Amino acid sequence: MTNSSIDALVIGTGIIGAMAAHYLQQDGRAVTLIERGEVSRGASSGNAGILAFPEIIPIAAPGMMRKAPKWLVDPLGPLSLPPAYALNMVPWLWRLWRASAQANFERTVAVHAKIMPLARSEWLNVLQHTGLGHMVKQTGTLDLYDSEASLFAASADWERKRRAGFEFERVDRGEIETLQPGLAPHIRHGVFSADGLQVGDPYALTKALVDHVVSRGAAMRKGDVLRIEPITPGARVILADGTALEAKTVVLAGGAWSKSAAASLGDFVPLETERGYNTTLPAGAFPLQRQLYFNDHGFVVTPLSTGIRIGGAVELGGLKLAPNYRRSEAMLKKAKMFLPELKTEGGRQWMGFRPSTPDCLPVIGPSGASPNVIHAFGHGHLGMTQSAATGRLVAEIAAGRKPSIDIEPLRIGRFR
Ligand SMILES: Cc1cc2nc3c(=O)[nH]c(=O)nc-3n(C[C@H](O)[C@H](O)[C@H](O)COP(=O)(O)OP(=O)(O)OC[C@H]3O[C@@H](n4cnc5c(N)ncnc54)[C@H](O)[C@@H]3O)c2cc1C
Repeated sequence: MTNSSIDALVIGTGIIGAMAAHYLQQDGRAVTLIERGEVSRGASSGNAGILAFPEIIPIAAPGMMRKAPKWLVDPLGPLSLPPAYALNMVPWLWRLWRASAQANFERTVAVHAKIMPLARSEWLNVLQHTGLGHMVKQTGTLDLYDSEASLFAASADWERKRRAGFEFERVDRGEIETLQPGLAPHIRHGVFSADGLQVGDPYALTKALVDHVVSRGAAMRKGDVLRIEPITPGARVILADGTALEAKTVVLAGGAWSKSAAASLGDFVPLETERGYNTTLPAGAFPLQRQLYFNDHGFVVTPLSTGIRIGGAVELGGLKLAPNYRRSEAMLKKAKMFLPELKTEGGRQWMGFRPSTPDCLPVIGPSGASPNVIHAFGHGHLGMTQSAATGRLVAEIAAGRKPSIDIEPLRIGRFR
């Protein structure tokens, strides 16, 4: 059966699909969202909720290979490569290593430094226009370091952030104690960014944005997209039940699951997933004032409207291996060393699939097979943060307008 009445079809109801739908609708497009699972229950539902605009430094950075073995030694440490999936990761890790070369790293930083200001201003626009502003709070961000030496090692990255226009200040033990009472006394080195923004509940916000778009006329349908085919004009989407949908514009925003639909168009992307874990504790577990980054240990603690979320870490384990929630427990144990009064009982554990490219940049731009199919996935650790900028770029590309920033480094063809 073919349905040919669709104007703009967005695949996926995570924060990227929701933002793309919102911006297309703002442009006057009649939007249909398609989702195979529960609406907005992908990676966007359980993340740390940080709008991390200053995070322009990619994981693929010079010196990464010196740190990795130390982290990999501990099977429950911040980075793990389960043996059952290790061989699959070799090509991706090879590309990651190449991306960490100084010149490539500087290029990636420069691209993020272009995306982030757009991400910030567009988030503020979206919150204002949708009435969802009450779901985001300015908590400020406290970055913590174990020693003077590790803070010093990060100083070049902080300098890059300063050059990109982000403001922050170094804080000593006394100031740390004021900004966040209850931290263990050995924590003496920090950096405070006053304008850090926190999403109260990433699932609730993503779903609310989807509901907003639907309340303004967008259609929502259930369906598992198997393939996308270019047609003239537009594109045809084939679902697992055999249904064919035709649309003038198709946006692929399937998060970590986008690789096979892109491949059906002949677009190659070395997309993998960096699985992340967390535990959400009841609100009374700790008097948390703001976002805390434990930079030497690969986890964050964030104040949600639903409790306190402790998590992070990277497990390069693909989409099919069963979750290993001992990772969530390990981070909780570690957090207790830094927050001695933390009550660790009664938490909810979660694992999510970050959609990750080895050059640490998202894929935003038209398919190589058709200008009517627009890719919008691969945001890795920064999907929540960069979603509004992505939505805006998608709408601009769909309308044939000049994108707000240069999308050349984001095109899928870069992986050929
Ligand atoms: C532990 C953890 C913490 C994080 N913390 C932060 C943070 O603090 N700040 C931040 O900016 N980012 C953070 N991230 C990253 C962020 O969560 C992701 O980058 C972002 O959610 C990706 O959004 P998405 O819409 O691309 O994917 P998803 O939210 O995964 O949505 C994709 C949707 O597409 C659907 N779909 C896929 N394929 C198909 C198909 N073929 N047919 C139909 N539907 C399909 C899926 O069912 C899913 O609903 C974190 C991630 C993790 C795991």
